[in-house]
Amino acid sequence: ESFDHMNLKMDLLHGIYGYGFEKPSAIQKQAIKPCCEGRDVIAQAQSGTGKTATFSISVLQLVDERIRDVQALILAPTHELAQQSHGVLQSIGTKMKNIRSHVCIGGTRIADDQAKLSGGVQVVVGTPGRVMDMINRGILSTARIKVFVVDEADEMLSRGFRDQIYDLFKAMPHDVQVILLSATMPPEVFEITKKFMRNPVKILV
Ligand code: AMP
Repeated sequence: ESFDHMNLKMDLLHGIYGYGFEKPSAIQKQAIKPCCEGRDVIAQAQSGTGKTATFSISVLQLVDERIRDVQALILAPTHELAQQSHGVLQSIGTKMKNIRSHVCIGGTRIADDQAKLSGGVQVVVGTPGRVMDMINRGILSTARIKVFVVDEADEMLSRGFRDQIYDLFKAMPHDVQVILLSATMPPEVFEITKKFMRNPVKILV
């Protein structure tokens, strides 16, 4: 099994190899295909398994570079993780010339986010509070979001983001694809998957 056989866009594939990956990790072997087919996916995976690249590759494959609207939203529990994941996505997508992405986290000027988004961004990585704020202000349109990634769902819930995550799910288009990653599956995470995901593929690594 290799990245070559995943039907990925050529410049995405070049980005993966350019980043230094030679072979997909276990989670990448199992999850990238269903993610790219538009399936909802629950991956129970810890840090260190290659989960960031899993959803980054899937998102880069799924977005249409010709459309300059937000098509993917990646949610992280902390500013640091949002920035890290954004860095991975940018590096892997470096050969995709028309991909624009942006991190939306607290502690920065919302006017800067607004300027960046109005320039045409396809992928937003952010923390729940800031992202919800931007949706409420009408700066971030959810109308064309087709994939919603919730990274470290258990961590997000333990940080008290439950209500914001529910609100974010409700702000998504009704047919949005959901990719959820979590190191553990406590009842509150299970509840989210039951409430907001449709016939998900479950992957345990
Ligand atoms: P993560 O699980 O996202 O925290 O990633 C853990 C580490 O594994 C990171 O340093 C990645 O760069 C690395 N990694 C992810 N996928 C691969 C791969 N297919 N080949 C080699 N290293 C990888």
